[in-house]
Amino acid sequence: MERVLSVSIGEIALKGLNRKYFEDKLISRIKRAMGNLEYNRVYNEQGKLYIEAPEDSFEEIINRLKKVFGLVYISPCIRLEKDMYWIEKASIKVMEEKLLKDPVKTFKVVTNRVDKSFPEKSPEISKKIGAAILRNVEGLSVDVHNPDTYVYIDIKQNCYIYTERIQGYGGLPVGTSGKGLLLLSGGIDSSVAGFLMAKRGVEISGVHFHSYPFTSERAEEKVKNLAKTLSIYTGRIKLYSVNILEIQKELNAKCPEKEMTILSRRFMMRIAEKIAIENNIDVLITGESLGQVASQTVEGLTVTNNAVDKLVIRPLIGFDKVKIINIAKEIETYETSILPYDDCCTLFLPKHPVTKPKIEDIENSEKNIDIDRLVEEAIATMKIHYIE
Ligand code: ATP
Ligand code: MG
Repeated sequence: MERVLSVSIGEIALKGLNRKYFEDKLISRIKRAMGNLEYNRVYNEQGKLYIEAPEDSFEEIINRLKKVFGLVYISPCIRLEKDMYWIEKASIKVMEEKLLKDPVKTFKVVTNRVDKSFPEKSPEISKKIGAAILRNVEGLSVDVHNPDTYVYIDIKQNCYIYTERIQGYGGLPVGTSGKGLLLLSGGIDSSVAGFLMAKRGVEISGVHFHSYPFTSERAEEKVKNLAKTLSIYTGRIKLYSVNILEIQKELNAKCPEKEMTILSRRFMMRIAEKIAIENNIDVLITGESLGQVASQTVEGLTVTNNAVDKLVIRPLIGFDKVKIINIAKEIETYETSILPYDDCCTLFLPKHPVTKPKIEDIENSEKNIDIDRLVEEAIATMKIHYIE
């Protein structure tokens, strides 16, 4: 009998012919998350992944793996040979260990017989093992409808027995849904947007716009810190840092004040799109949410969107702020995002921004602006940081 960790992969199991591809990605993400921790191997056995590692590092491994997307739950298991005598012994042991941590009163045995050549059928196994636990462990009874704990028995090439299912985030392994460029401000929303898309398998790069020296170096640090927290989930983030001060000055000098925000947003989109094209990134991601601020009305979003051809994903579009904040707290970006440093959007902020911009008006205002040159110049002077 040995101790191993099992990893349930949920949705990936539905991927049919691509399954191997998804599993391999997940294995590489798991290995990366384990980093410097000692482990022997990660292997696949009939629908789940298993990790052989020293038992005293299980806790740390579990903590790290909980943040790996594509993983539904993790279970510390006993692995043993498929033999009813030993299955009984191990099940009793697993139950006794459960009781040390958690004073449960009722249980149910659930057997999953993947290896159909095993002579006894699942219900018989569950029944026999349930009876053995009742005989050997005091103070328990069986409850098949609403037990305090389950004892899971998976019969495969080996047999695995466990009681815990420690939840992960689910989703898909990062890198299986292409590449996205996240417009990362210092605010609450954009990090959450990046987290959600990474959870759907998108590999994340970031672009941040600033107006240095009008915005401070601390504001830039703040964004790097957000990217750092995000990278716990997404893996290394390439962060493009673009100064748009010249663009803002030009817009301020030549365009109506009330259009400043929407015009800057269009520039951000254009620059992001160009970076994406040059770096083979498939999609842009923003933290926009319908109705949140003046520029995020249907009309505002239409005009912003109109500046680019690439697909723009807005995962928060229908989320209320409270919900976004809850996610930000959970992923631990919240405290950093509420630090009160200046954002480039606050420079030349219009007192009464247009809430229903018309594309004709906006394009008309842009007539006096050399868009291509400004975009080129901003990109020529951008800096790149690698965050992990
Ligand atoms: P956040 O809380 O993420 O800052 P917000 O509610 O403040 O979002 P806006 O400032 O209107 O909303 O920005 C909407 C989206 O535009 C942001 O979620 C982000 O994706 C992008 N964005 C805004 N400012 C910047 C910036 N300085 N750098 C990069 N992206 C930005
Ligand atoms: Mg913002």
